[in-house]
Amino acid sequence: MAPAQEYKLYENIFIETNLQSADYDGVVLILYPEEMNVALPRDIGSYIDKINKLDKNIHKVPTVWNCDYVAGQRLVLSPTGKITPYHDVKVVKEAAKKGMTRAMEAGMKRPLIVIKHVVDYSDGQLVSILGTLEALYVPLQMRERQDSKNFIRIGFHAEEKRTEAFERIVRNAIALERSRIVTRDIAGGDPERMSPIKIVEYLKSSFDENTNVTIKVIDDEEELAENYPLLAAVNRAATRVERHRARIVELEYNSSDPNRVTETVMLVGKGVTYDTGGADIKIQGKMAGMSRDKCGAAAVAGFLKACAILKPPHLKVVGVLCLCRNSCGADSYVSDELLVSKSGKTVRVTNTDAEGRLAMADALYHVTEKAGSVLNPHIYTIATLTGHAAACYGSYTAAMDNHSARATNHGSRLQLSGASVGEGFDVSTVRSEDLAVNVGKCMGDDLVQYDTSAKCRNHQLAAGFLIKVSGLEEKNIKYTHLDIAGSAGMPPDEPTAVPVLSLCHLHKVLL
Ligand SMILES: [Zn+2]
Repeated sequence: MAPAQEYKLYENIFIETNLQSADYDGVVLILYPEEMNVALPRDIGSYIDKINKLDKNIHKVPTVWNCDYVAGQRLVLSPTGKITPYHDVKVVKEAAKKGMTRAMEAGMKRPLIVIKHVVDYSDGQLVSILGTLEALYVPLQMRERQDSKNFIRIGFHAEEKRTEAFERIVRNAIALERSRIVTRDIAGGDPERMSPIKIVEYLKSSFDENTNVTIKVIDDEEELAENYPLLAAVNRAATRVERHRARIVELEYNSSDPNRVTETVMLVGKGVTYDTGGADIKIQGKMAGMSRDKCGAAAVAGFLKACAILKPPHLKVVGVLCLCRNSCGADSYVSDELLVSKSGKTVRVTNTDAEGRLAMADALYHVTEKAGSVLNPHIYTIATLTGHAAACYGSYTAAMDNHSARATNHGSRLQLSGASVGEGFDVSTVRSEDLAVNVGKCMGDDLVQYDTSAKCRNHQLAAGFLIKVSGLEEKNIKYTHLDIAGSAGMPPDEPTAVPVLSLCHLHKVLL
């Protein structure tokens, strides 16, 4: 194809209709199970029939073949493996990701990936493209030290002719991937590279090009102590170290046409840049990986980035990143202290390692107050909050609605959105005892940070604490708490950037 006809979507990503285009040095094909009888271009179909007789392993692991019918005479076959009714769209995402990884290992610099709508997953093509782009992610600190994987170009092929529908899918995928990179960079950065002040720097430069998002930073120690007293308590040992001081970052996205706004999404993210456990210090190696305790805040930033790029006209979005560090030192907050939240409730500290609920509590209170004056609000907290959520749901996110959100079946709808974009959710129920267990035990205490005698329901009771401490208990405002402790991704895996895709899907941020 002549360069003049090229349609450049973003930097070096293109839509390609010709599988033999000289612009590419190899083709990646997702290989579906034989029994599905997927239609392939004639020559390629018979070629695969031939090698299928040669090596049955092509349906198990990605393989590279010399094939005259495709660009670069190189064909990567990346099998999905068996697809059962229990599988979901992740099966095609994983195949796409593995195929792209194999292409890189083979030395391709200009891979062309075939993205066909084959299995009946509504967003299968979008998710496959996201899978291939995910394979290209290079951690920020590695990018800063050396050139990244240095692709010259990447092509996506769906059909022989270009369609508007496919163009839209590719545009959405690129926007989502750019947003997920923001999330992964913040979430995956080490505790010094992504300290609160460095996260602010990163956000300012990342949103520099987006005039539809404003950034407000609260960094004054007195102001934090006054308006975010529980976060300030968590950060007390870190405050003496200038570069570890806490920050509240408020990101706000506004539609270019305020008359079209029908919904206000309000997000509060836990951004504990390092969690030592505090005075209740994490022992026996349990501290490793705790720089990922900022994945919630990172996801909030990613969602705002998606809005900044895709510009949904019907949304107003407010995102609050609660950035602090749970350090251990002479000035650490300790158990038995009686703190007073911004909502005026006394909170008895019982375990300094349950800092996430304190870090978000006052921000959630402020957002709840603000929700009273905006159009159709829905509040979220997103946090790597409890090991219990991971123990209950493995690598899936626990979604917990308050009474108002449950009345609209919000958690289930989020679960459906997640299923279509390859992010799994389990809906968990917040019950009356999950609120009651947080009531203070000592005379005069309104709340207990964490009931140390609780034997179960730890992720639900954390939601109960947030509902109580913020004042949401008495209000009819839709609120959903997302515990991503099991789903956010722990080293050595890269951060997953959940639940950015699902929120974009549910709130119709996509084009
Ligand atoms: Zn902790």
